[in-house]
Amino acid sequence: MVGAGVGGLTQALALAKAGFEVTLLEANESLTTTGAGIQLSPNATRILQRFGLADSLARVADSPQQVVCRHWQTGAPVSIQPLGVVAATRFGAPYYHLLRADLIDVLAEAIQREPSVTLHCNASVRSVVQIPEGVEVDSSAGTFHGDVLIAADGVHSSLREAIFGEANARFTGQAAWRLLVPRSALNDCDVPAETGVWWGPGKHFVAYPVNQGRSVNCVCVVEAKQWTEESWTQKGRAQDLAEDFKGWHPNLQGLIAAADPAEVRQWALLDRPTLDRWYSGRVVLMGDACHPSLPFLAQGAAMAIEDAEVLSVCLAEDIEPAAAFRAYQRLRQPRTDYVQRASRRNAGIFHATGLKAWARDRLAPWAGDRVTAKLYRFDAGRLARQHFNR
Ligand SMILES: Cc1cc2nc3c(=O)[nH]c(=O)nc-3n(C[C@H](O)[C@H](O)[C@H](O)COP(=O)(O)OP(=O)(O)OC[C@H]3O[C@@H](n4cnc5c(N)ncnc54)[C@H](O)[C@@H]3O)c2cc1C
Repeated sequence: MVGAGVGGLTQALALAKAGFEVTLLEANESLTTTGAGIQLSPNATRILQRFGLADSLARVADSPQQVVCRHWQTGAPVSIQPLGVVAATRFGAPYYHLLRADLIDVLAEAIQREPSVTLHCNASVRSVVQIPEGVEVDSSAGTFHGDVLIAADGVHSSLREAIFGEANARFTGQAAWRLLVPRSALNDCDVPAETGVWWGPGKHFVAYPVNQGRSVNCVCVVEAKQWTEESWTQKGRAQDLAEDFKGWHPNLQGLIAAADPAEVRQWALLDRPTLDRWYSGRVVLMGDACHPSLPFLAQGAAMAIEDAEVLSVCLAEDIEPAAAFRAYQRLRQPRTDYVQRASRRNAGIFHATGLKAWARDRLAPWAGDRVTAKLYRFDAGRLARQHFNR
C-alpha cells in the first residue's frame, strides 16, 4: 500500500482484520498530518467502530449537538439539524469533530496492534512495475513486492498520474482559509457546541469546536480570481482574511482576531474530473487519489474510510484481483460520484445571493435533512457483504 493518511491507515487496518499481510509505505518521516480539524459523520464512524475504535475515538472526539446554518451578518439560524444523541440514535453511529492529528494517532495505534501490518515511513514511492506474480514497488526505502498495490497517496497521487495520466485539475475560482483558534484567546465571542456554517454572498465560514472544546477549527471559503497552489500548508496573511470577512457577524470577526497570524493558511480549491476506471492490472486507487471532492460536504475522509472497508471485503473473496477491483469500483462509484457532484453543487448554494439565497433559506431545513440522511444512513460495508451474500 502507498500512503498512510486517513484512507491508507484505515485500509491497512481493514485488510489486517480480514487476515491480509500489509506493507504500508509513507513518504513522510512520521505520521504527521496537515489540516487542523475534521468532521466524521456516522457513515464513517460506524466503520471505525466496527474495527474496534469506538472507545479510542470517543476519548479524543467532540460531539456537536447540532449543525446550524446561519445568516452571515445577523447570525440568525437558517436551518438547524440535530446531531448528538439524536443523530447517533437515528443513524446508528455518532457524529464527531476531531483534530486530524488525533484521528491519525488513533488509527496509527490500531495498526501498531496488528502484527500483520508493517509501516515504513520515509518511503516515498517512485515507480511501480507490474510483474506476472504481482507488483514491484521502487521507493526511497528500497524495493518491495506484493500481490497487489493499493494507492492511497492522496489528491496529488503520483500513482494515479503514472497509471491514468494527468488529472487536468481545474481551479474552481475558490480559495479556502484555515485557522485553529485556542478558546483561551477568545474573549466574549460565543462558540456553541455545534457545527456552525455561515452562508454569505460569495463566501462561507465553517467553525466548530475540537480538542474537547479547547480550540475552534475554522475553514473559510472565498471566491478568488486566480491561483496556482493547492497546498494546505501555504501561509496566508491574516489581514487579508480579516478583509475578506469584514462586515460579517462579530463572533466570526472575534475568531479571526484571536487566530495566531503565523498559523493562518490559505490554499486554492481545485477540482478534478471523475475517473472512468479505478484500477489497472494489480494496482487500484482509493480515497482522494481516486475521487477527490471539494470540501463542501465534509465527506472526503469519510469516502476514503468507506472505500477501505469495501475494498477489503472484495479482496477477501476468493476471486482474482481484477474481479475484486471491478466489484469494488461497481460498489463505490455511484456513491463517490454523488458526493463529488453534490459537493460541487453546494459551492453555488452556500454562496448564493438575491432570489437564489432567499429560496435556499426556505428550502434548507428540508433539503439539508434529505442530503444528510442519504449520506449518514449509508452502510458501505453492509452493502459490500450483501453483494457477496455474506
Ligand atoms: C478544507 C478541507 C476540509 C475538509 N474537511 C473534511 C471533513 O470535515 N470531513 C471529511 O470526511 N473530509 C474532509 N476533507 C477531505 C479529507 O481531508 C480528505 O478527503 C482525506 O484526507 C483523504 O484521505 P487520503 O488518505 O485519501 O489522502 P491523504 O490524507 O492526502 O493521505 C495521502 C498520504 O499519502 C502520502 N503519499 C503521497 N505520495 C506518496 C508517495 N509517492 N509515496 C508514499 N507516500 C505518499 C502522503 O504523505 C499522505 O500521508 C476536507 C478537505 C479539505 C481540503
